[in-house]
Amino acid sequence: MGERAENIEKQEDGSFIVTTNEGTQHQAPSVIIAGGLGSFEPRKPLVENLPAFEKKGIEYMVREPKLFLNKRLFISGSGDSALDWTIYFAENSELPVGLVHRSDMFRAHKDSVDRVCQLQEKGKIELYTHAEIKKVSGGSQLESIELHQKEREPKTIDVDYWLPLFGLSPKLGPIGNLRLEIEKNAIKVDHTLNYQTNTPGVFAVGDVNTYPGKLKLILCEFNETTLAVQSCYKIVNPDKKFTMKYTTVQGVKDFEKVV
Ligand SMILES: Cc1cc2nc3c(=O)[nH]c(=O)nc-3n(C[C@H](O)[C@H](O)[C@H](O)COP(=O)(O)OP(=O)(O)OC[C@H]3O[C@@H](n4cnc5c(N)ncnc54)[C@H](O)[C@@H]3O)c2cc1C
Repeated sequence: MGERAENIEKQEDGSFIVTTNEGTQHQAPSVIIAGGLGSFEPRKPLVENLPAFEKKGIEYMVREPKLFLNKRLFISGSGDSALDWTIYFAENSELPVGLVHRSDMFRAHKDSVDRVCQLQEKGKIELYTHAEIKKVSGGSQLESIELHQKEREPKTIDVDYWLPLFGLSPKLGPIGNLRLEIEKNAIKVDHTLNYQTNTPGVFAVGDVNTYPGKLKLILCEFNETTLAVQSCYKIVNPDKKFTMKYTTVQGVKDFEKVV
């Protein structure tokens, strides 16, 4: 508990060993993956040497606003997060904030878009629409960005920070490395039978799986889990007869004695 499953290996005897980030190993005849949407990661722009300046002037979220106050700051994006932070820094910083967006249609609330226009008129925001940052440069820290704007020559601007705020996307993370068949960032399962993956003995239930008609609803996921657990029971107890029992009729006490 409190550990992250990082690897799953099939053994010669057909069982599986799941290894966590702490090195703990669990061995079992079958595995049910219920990892939800995994972890969320920021959507990153396609800029060649971006990783070289991550946490060295390029940040994907604002953890400590003070860090960016009175700095040469550029923000990219068109959603609420990008506009809310642009407005915050424009209102609180002594320097204007650059806001860069690929089109001139914003996804953020209309109130925020109106406020951006007001602050632009006051010279607190430098707004670049139909524009993209395509190159970043610097030494040990980010020093400049290259701004490409439609029908204009690219220009290099000296900055302290660039915040590409393009939202978050769910990532399977470690689960995505298990050599399981992945579609649309989710694990493909056999929805006609028991939500088994392409690896026999490994099942995936809940938000982590995908199949035609998938609904990410708790009700549906109870059904998926029930069918997967039933199949696991048969793998664990190949010689035992499975008998369906209703808790409403007999309760769950002494269940083991009758099966
Ligand atoms: C805003 C919102 C409202 C919703 N409202 C409803 C509703 O009204 N009715 C309804 O039916 N559904 C609703 N849903 C959907 C429902 O919440 C999900 O379908 C359900 O919670 C999915 O359950 P899960 O167990 O698959 O995933 P989760 O609940 O996401 O649980 C997955 C768990 O696995 C853990 N995990 C991930 N990767 C690893 C790893 N490698 N190792 C170990 N642990 C890991 C995560 O930390 C997490 O604890 C809503 C969803 C949202 C976002």
